Amino acid sequence: MKYISTRGKTEAVSSAEAIRTGLAPDGGLYMPDRFPETDNKFLMELAELSYPERAAKIMHLFLSDSYTLKEISDDCFAAYNEGSFPGGPAPVKKAGDINILELWHGPTAAFKDLALQIMPRLFVRAVRKTGDSRKALILVATSGDTGKAALEGYRDVEGVDIAVYYPVDGVSRIQKLQMSTQTGNNVRVRAVSGNFDDTQNGVKKIFSDASISAELNRRGRFLSSANSINWGRLVPQICYYYSAYCDLMNSCTLKPFETLDVTVPTGNFGNILAAYIAKKCGLPLGRLICASNSNNVLTDFISKGVYDKNRPFILTSSPSMDILISSNLERLIYTVSGAAETRRNMSDLARSGLYSVDDETHRKITDDFNGDYLDEESVGKTIKTVYDRYGYLIDTHTAVAYGCAEKYAVRTGMPMLVVSTASPFKFAPSVLNALGIQKYGEDDPLETLSAKTGVNIPYPLRGLNERKIMFPPEDSINPADMPADVLGNI
Ligand SMILES: *Cc1c(COP(=O)(O)O)cnc(C)c1O
Repeated sequence: MKYISTRGKTEAVSSAEAIRTGLAPDGGLYMPDRFPETDNKFLMELAELSYPERAAKIMHLFLSDSYTLKEISDDCFAAYNEGSFPGGPAPVKKAGDINILELWHGPTAAFKDLALQIMPRLFVRAVRKTGDSRKALILVATSGDTGKAALEGYRDVEGVDIAVYYPVDGVSRIQKLQMSTQTGNNVRVRAVSGNFDDTQNGVKKIFSDASISAELNRRGRFLSSANSINWGRLVPQICYYYSAYCDLMNSCTLKPFETLDVTVPTGNFGNILAAYIAKKCGLPLGRLICASNSNNVLTDFISKGVYDKNRPFILTSSPSMDILISSNLERLIYTVSGAAETRRNMSDLARSGLYSVDDETHRKITDDFNGDYLDEESVGKTIKTVYDRYGYLIDTHTAVAYGCAEKYAVRTGMPMLVVSTASPFKFAPSVLNALGIQKYGEDDPLETLSAKTGVNIPYPLRGLNERKIMFPPEDSINPADMPADVLGNI
C-alpha cells in the first residue's frame, strides 16, 4: 500500500515515510491509496483474539508495505498491556440500551493513549526504515490532553526527545499537574505565558523556520510532531471499532454482522474518521453520528455542506472539543471528492475561513454521517440523568455523545455504540457540578467525586497532588523565547 497526499501534489510514499514526516510536503495529509477489504470471515477470526492481536492484524492491513506483522504485533503487546491499561484498552459497557466503548483506561485517562502508546514505537521504526540516522525532537503545543498523552508515549523512548509547550493559564488544574510532574530522561515541559493560540503559533513558527531546522540538522536532529494529522495516530484508532464490534458479537448484543450505529464526541475529526475508514473497509457500521459541543461548526457543515469557522469560539466544559478548524475533515473531503476539490476547499478555508462542497459531495457525506450537538445545559443534564438512571458516571465529552446518541437511537431503535473518550475524574469539577454537588470545600474534587459515587479514581490520577513537580509552571517562558528554549537544551 502507498500513501498519497489529500492535495495530490506530492509523490506517493511508503507508510513508514508517512509516519516519519506527518504532513505531506504539499501541505496535505497522507491517506492510503485504497481501503483494504475485511469480510465476515475476517471478523469471525478477529473475534477470537485478544486486543493486541486484533490491533496488530488490522494495522498490518495498512502498514504491510513497510512493517512486518511480527514488528507490529510486538509493538501492540508492548503498548496494550495490563500494566498500562488495567481493565483492558477498549472494554465495552452498557448504560441503558446504549453500548459504551470506554477508551480511557490508559496512562493519562483519555482516549489519546490508544494512539499515543503505540505511535512512538511505529515512529522509531519508521525513522530507521527510512534510513534517517538523526535523533528526533518531537515538538507539541497542547491545550491539555495531547501533551500529557504524548509525554507518556515518548518518555524514555530511545532516539527521541520530546518538548511540550502549554499555555500557563489555558489548561485545567489536573492537566497542569499531570504535565508538570512528568518524569522521563528525554522529556521537557514548558508553561508559556499566553493563550493556546500564542503557544501553537510559537510551535508552528519553529517548524517553519529553516534556520532552526538547519541548526538542528547540524546537531544530528530533526523535528517531528505528534499531533492528530499524522497517519501513525489515526491507524491505531481504526482498531478499536473492530474490537468493539467483535466484543458485541461475542456477547450476543449484536447478531453476527448486524449493523451498528456509532456516536463519536468530535473535535479534530480524527476519532470519527477512523470509524468511517473501518466502515469503508467492510466493518458493518451504520450511521456515524458526529457529536459536537456548542462549537458546532461540524453540525452545520454536515447539515448544509458549508464549512464556516467565522463564529465566536466558545469555552465549554468539554475543552478537548473546543475546536473551530477540524484538520482531519480534509481526509473525508478528499475521500469523497478527490484532490482537486480538496485543494480548492482548503485554500478557500485559509483565505476566508469558509468553503462549501458541491451537492454530490454533500450527499455522499450525509449517506454516512449525521451531525448533532449538545449545549452546555444539556451536557450537565445528560451526566445527571445517566448517573441517576443507570449508576454510570460519564465525563463531559462522553455526555455530548451520549445525549446525541440517545436522541437518534430513540427514533430508530437500532443498536448504538457511544465512544467514551475521557474518565469522568479527568473533568471532576464539571461532573460534580452536573451532579449538583457544588460544595466540596478544601477537599480535592477527585476525592469528593469518588466518595460521593463509590467509583474509584483511575490509577494515573491518584495522588497527583503529592507528586514531585519537575517542571514548575511558575517558570513560564514568553512565546518569543520558544526557539531559544528548543535549541538551548539539546
Ligand atoms: C481529543 C479528544 C476528543 C476529540 O477527538 P478528535 O479525534 O479530535 O475528534 C474528544 N474527547 C476527548 C476527551 C479528547 O481528548
